[in-house]
Amino acid sequence: LASRDFHPENTVIRIGDVQIGGGDLVIMGGPCAVESPEQIDEIAGLVKAAGGQVLRGGAFKPRTGPYSFQGIGVEGLVMMAEAGKKHGLLTITEVMTPEYVDVCAEYADILQVGTRNMQNFDLLRKLGACGKPVLLKRGFSATYDEFLNAAEYILAGGNPNVMLCERGIRTFETYTRNTLDLSAIPVLQGLSHLPVISDPSHGTGRRELVEPMTKASVAAGADGLIIEMHTDPDNSMTGDGVQSLFPDQFAALLQDLEKLAPLV
Ligand code: PEP
Ligand code: MN
Repeated sequence: LASRDFHPENTVIRIGDVQIGGGDLVIMGGPCAVESPEQIDEIAGLVKAAGGQVLRGGAFKPRTGPYSFQGIGVEGLVMMAEAGKKHGLLTITEVMTPEYVDVCAEYADILQVGTRNMQNFDLLRKLGACGKPVLLKRGFSATYDEFLNAAEYILAGGNPNVMLCERGIRTFETYTRNTLDLSAIPVLQGLSHLPVISDPSHGTGRRELVEPMTKASVAAGADGLIIEMHTDPDNSMTGDGVQSLFPDQFAALLQDLEKLAPLV
């Protein structure tokens, strides 16, 4: 179902008046984690003003250590839904376990599967029947074939609205947090008809690399970007402040992108 051999035309995911995979560049921006109603409301206003279409934010955070901040849960879903509605943005949030799929689908427009859950097959099967588009992140050690097979689980469950997200892979390099595999963009678009989104934030782990790797992703043909932005990155509740753009950097980047590709 994921293969272009049996489905030559591109999948276009339509949510409200946003089309993903139809030639427009879709921008998803926001904090790593939803922290408070004020935080997500302020950032939503900034994403909208900069020209973004989708508000990102995690209410359930998959942290490497069990004692780190794990997200604020369902309350965060409610805060993000309110901010999205108020500012006219769609919302995307990560769902980590099958039992939370229904509540996440109730509050968010797009459900995100994190890199660590790419092969959580019970979760993928549940997302096949969730009724909402899914952004599936590539496992940080997954081959393209494994990635497409993971997407296949969601498609086979009856959900045709799947987008693939390259978010960097584990290599021997330690200067960057991950190595953003730009080749994944044209390769996956060749093998599959699904939209491909790039995540230069987790893909590099360094704020100063987000702008060049965003532009490189657009040049490589990405259908959209998911970018972390925070009003106070140094005090963000996850460690991802170091890779989060300041609001003025986010706005300037989107202005530059207008020159490279038509925004929605
Ligand atoms: C995130 O988007 O904040 C996140 C945790 O992403 P990943 O699963 O790619 O690490
Ligand atoms: Mn993050």
